[in-house]
Amino acid sequence: MPETLPAKPTTSPAQKALLKLGLRRDIDLALHLPLRYEDETRIARLADAREGDTVQIEATVMACEVTFRPRRQLLVTVDDGSETCLLRFFSFYPSQQKALAVGARIRARGEVRGGFGGLTMMHPSFRAAGGELPTALTPVYPTVAGLPQSYLRKAVLGGLAHADLSDTLPAPELSGSHENLSKISLYPLWSLRESLSFLHHPMPDVALATLEDRSHPAWQRLKAEELLAQQLSQLQAKRARDRLRAPALRPRRGGLHEKLLAVLPFKLTRAQHRVSEEIARDLAQPVPMHRLLQGDVGSGKTVVAALAAAICIDAGWQCALMAPTEILAEQHFRKLIGWLDPLLAPLGLRTVWLTGSQKAKERREMLALIASGEAALVIGTHAVIQDKVVFKRLALAIIDEQHRFGVAQRLALRGKASDPTNGSTMTADAQEPHLLMMTATPIPRTLAMSYYADLEVSTLDELPPGRTPVITKVVHESRRDEVIERIRAQLAQGRQVYWVCPLIEESEALDLVNATQTHAALSEALSGGGLNGGPAVMVGLLHSRMPAAEKKAVMALFTGGPGDAGAPGRMGVLVSTTVIEVGVDVPNASLMVIEHAERFGLSQLHQLRGRVGRGAAASACVLLYSTGEAPRLGETARARLKAMVETGDGFEIARRDLEIRGPGEFLGARQSGAPLLRFADLALDAGLLDWARQLAPQMLDQHPELADKHVQRWLGGKAEYLKA
Ligand code: ADP
Ligand code: MG
Repeated sequence: MPETLPAKPTTSPAQKALLKLGLRRDIDLALHLPLRYEDETRIARLADAREGDTVQIEATVMACEVTFRPRRQLLVTVDDGSETCLLRFFSFYPSQQKALAVGARIRARGEVRGGFGGLTMMHPSFRAAGGELPTALTPVYPTVAGLPQSYLRKAVLGGLAHADLSDTLPAPELSGSHENLSKISLYPLWSLRESLSFLHHPMPDVALATLEDRSHPAWQRLKAEELLAQQLSQLQAKRARDRLRAPALRPRRGGLHEKLLAVLPFKLTRAQHRVSEEIARDLAQPVPMHRLLQGDVGSGKTVVAALAAAICIDAGWQCALMAPTEILAEQHFRKLIGWLDPLLAPLGLRTVWLTGSQKAKERREMLALIASGEAALVIGTHAVIQDKVVFKRLALAIIDEQHRFGVAQRLALRGKASDPTNGSTMTADAQEPHLLMMTATPIPRTLAMSYYADLEVSTLDELPPGRTPVITKVVHESRRDEVIERIRAQLAQGRQVYWVCPLIEESEALDLVNATQTHAALSEALSGGGLNGGPAVMVGLLHSRMPAAEKKAVMALFTGGPGDAGAPGRMGVLVSTTVIEVGVDVPNASLMVIEHAERFGLSQLHQLRGRVGRGAAASACVLLYSTGEAPRLGETARARLKAMVETGDGFEIARRDLEIRGPGEFLGARQSGAPLLRFADLALDAGLLDWARQLAPQMLDQHPELADKHVQRWLGGKAEYLKA
């Protein structure tokens, strides 16, 4: 007889919705704070209510009917003894209609509006009258479809009751941390339990402003705890990594690294020298490097990456370089193959390339080369981290434009060296590759101190010589013709032009229409051919929906010959969607036109502008804007365009961007990889951040079990992500 299995616990839709909100544990529920509060502690008299007040009334239903004009609605007249009021519902269940039958006593809450027929409330919340009035404000929680407030409130109450809310801050007599914290937050310290109970159910006499601006001591406590958790987990990640082993890669005299330096068509800038040395020093350590190379667009990060790769290969290991787009990966491949392959060939090694669009046969060949170790350098897109890719001896992973990758992807690339299934020669003392991340979006200091506290940072603060600053102009779209004149002038000098079409977030299809139309219009406008009867101007179109091969062909026409000495491309104008945003390097391009510039983010505009000004020619960027129906541009759009005109410095741009958007937006949850701060604000809570930064190392040393508990409580399973 088969045993009867216990019934599987079923998950209700509301439970599923809770999970969707990430509310798994009691503590998660306890930390799910209200968006706002409703005051149900009082019953108001309708006669005293002013228009616009949100009030709670207790009244008797006098009439209840469904009408169909102008649309189906339920009209309920109630009287509270002082005045009558019409409750109007456009959507309602039969059960609700029944609860509102004539004679019923109800308690309703909503905003009072005036009208022809007297007071009305649209869609008030209501229930049967009676029962005690609550003494605290009623929380309204952030929620999702299928998860009613009532269910959520109960769940949160349960979470609060069951969660372990014992104090994890080290006792004051040990570290003085409580005292310090109250000094910083200017309040006597509240306990975690007190703070949470209060924030879920504040008394009606609380100054609501202190909840809104989060200056209330309960908020201070939460923010301090959250920042401490973040600092602790970063520090833990750093210490964990310091215990890992990586191959020590030391540059040899006369090795590949020196040979590469000798064949480069230019001399390194001082900044490139400096950061290369910083990287070389890390690589020589038997501990995995975790370094971010930040440098403005065009500062020459690629060659720094190539030099690091050379050290790695010279020491007998493999290097992987991952880029976010196929175009960029292809470009890196072409450049690096030009520099490196002549040096690799005598060693029986080569550079290979991997992308999703590769033919199966070619892919298989590449995979074999990677597995055998013959492919010393592997360049590609996300394809590099797919399961099938098995490295023989990966020691260095380089991620270009790292902010474009999600954390999981970054982790996956790192995991390539320690993959237990890869049967490689990797020994136990070499489990991790060194990691070099590159970005043109610099991290402002406060963020570096918090989100990237466990990251070493190298900065290229100098552009290669001979660059002329890009002149930026903001031009209303009505002056398109003048812009086209400018294009003609550039083309006449043998220069090339980018025209970038807007990003319409809701619809890729619309983007496409826009780019296609612009392409047609420009082709038409420039069809007069080259000046003085020269050959016709070639206008190309590039967008993300194009098959990879076609993209490649278009790019090749625009890019021209490979390497730095190659001939300029034959295509004069490239109309594209933002697929060219990052990395693309065509030094002969001297004009960038960005259509609907008001729709782009600041760092994106800066990245796009960085596509020009890469050669010696004077370059310009035209920000074409439109105000649509509105009389003028919105404030933030104006601030962005203004910043673009006023500065070409990526660091200043990042600073302004942070100012305009705030850190949450700036990082974007996916990009940062770190769970964003939910409660603290780096700009406003700098004092608390300092406190957390000071306490974290002490706490890890003196109270490691408290530190663990604290991180676990706050970040739960998410702490894993901080390691990326
Ligand atoms: P980014 O930092 O934006 O990735 P790239 O690595 O694409 O910049 O470099 C931009 C251009 O500058 C490339 O054409 C590159 O070959 C060139 N370059 C890089 N370093 C130097 C240098 N030291 N001197 C002259 N040109 C350089
Ligand atoms: Mg680059």
